[in-house]
Amino acid sequence: MRVALGIFSKIKGWFSLSSDIGIDLGTASILVHVKDKGIVLCEPSVVAIDKDSGKLYAVGSEAQKMLGRTPGNIVAIRPLREGVISDYSSTERMLKYFIRKVTKNRIFKPRIMICVPSGVTEVEERAVVDAGTQAGGRQVYLIEEPIAAAIGAGLDISRACGCMVVDIGGGTSDVAVISLGGIVVSDSIKVAGDRFDDAIVKYIRKKHNAVIGDRTAESVKINIGSVYKMDEEKSMEVRGRSLLSGLPMSITITSEEIREALDEVAVQIVDTVHSVLERTPPELVGDIAENGVALTGGGAMISGLDKLLMEKTGIRVYLADDPLSCVAKGTGAALDNLHVLRDKSSCVYDQQE
Ligand code: ADP
Ligand code: MG
Repeated sequence: MRVALGIFSKIKGWFSLSSDIGIDLGTASILVHVKDKGIVLCEPSVVAIDKDSGKLYAVGSEAQKMLGRTPGNIVAIRPLREGVISDYSSTERMLKYFIRKVTKNRIFKPRIMICVPSGVTEVEERAVVDAGTQAGGRQVYLIEEPIAAAIGAGLDISRACGCMVVDIGGGTSDVAVISLGGIVVSDSIKVAGDRFDDAIVKYIRKKHNAVIGDRTAESVKINIGSVYKMDEEKSMEVRGRSLLSGLPMSITITSEEIREALDEVAVQIVDTVHSVLERTPPELVGDIAENGVALTGGGAMISGLDKLLMEKTGIRVYLADDPLSCVAKGTGAALDNLHVLRDKSSCVYDQQE
C-alpha cells in the first residue's frame, strides 16, 4: 500500500512539473508564476547585448546593473520601456531565456499564459507567442493586462457586476471596467512610474541645478515620494552632479518638493480614471461605487495615490495586496479559468488550434 502511495505521489510530482506558467511581461519587470509554487522569478525587463557579436551579454538584474554603465560595444536596454516592443529580437530572447530558466528539467511541456503591455501590436503579440512556443510552451495564450490584474487582485470578474482596476506599471497605466469576464470600458496612457522618476530628475535640475541619475530618482520616489499630503513629511539627501561646477554635490530634498514635482504626472492618471468613469454605463458605475477601485502595479505604490483618487472621484480606492505581483498571479490563475474569459481576444493564440 505504502509503495503504491509512493509511486502515486511520484507520478503526481511529475505532473506538477508540467504545471501551468503565467508570465507578466512588464515594461519594468518580468515575473513568472508557476501553478502550486507561486512567483518563482522576478527580474527587471532589461537586456545587455554585445553589439559586435550580437550575443546576449546579460539578462535581468545582471543587465540592469549595467544600464548607463556600459563600454562602447555593449548596450543595456529596456526593450519594452514605453509599453511597446521597441526591440523585437531582444524581447524575444529575454522571454525565451526566462522561460527556459524556469522550465528546465521539466518532463512535460507547460501551458503558458503571457500578459503583454496594452500598447503592443498584433504583430508584436505574435512574436511573443512564437517566443513562448520556441521556448517549449505546449499551448501559449495571451491575456489582456487589466483582466490579469483584476484576477490577481482577487476580484471576481465572472459576475455581471462592474469592477474597476487601475494598473500602474513602469511605462503604462491601464484603467479598465470589467464585467462578465470582459472589458467594458478602458483606457491606457504612457504615463506611469517612469514618468514620476523623470519628473524628479527635471525638478532637481531646475530647482537645485544638479543632475541625478534615473536610479537615484527612483529611490527618491520610493523613499519620500507622495502625491497626497503626508501625515509626517520626510527629507532625504541625494548625490548628483552640479550643473555649475560639473563636480559631485549632495542636496537635501523634502517630500513637499517631490510632491510638487509629481503633481503634473499624478493629475494625468487621475484624469484618465475620470474619463473612463464618464464613459462607464450607469449600472456599472453603481457597482464600482459599491465595490471600490482596486489599484495594482508597482507604480500604484506611490504614497497617497489611493487618497488622491478617492478625493477626486468620491469612490473608495484601495491598494491591492502585493500590487507588484497581481498581474503575474492573475495571468497564472487565468489558465484555470479560460472559460470565464469572455472576450475571444483575451486568449488569441492557441498553438494547437
Ligand atoms: P511593469 O508592470 O510595467 O513592469 P511594475 O508593476 O513592475 O511595472 O512597476 C514598476 C514601477 O513601480 C517602477 O516605476 C517602480 O519605480 C515603481 N515602484 C516600485 N515600488 C514602488 C514603491 N514602493 N513606491 C513607488 N513606486 C514604486
Ligand atoms: Mg505590469
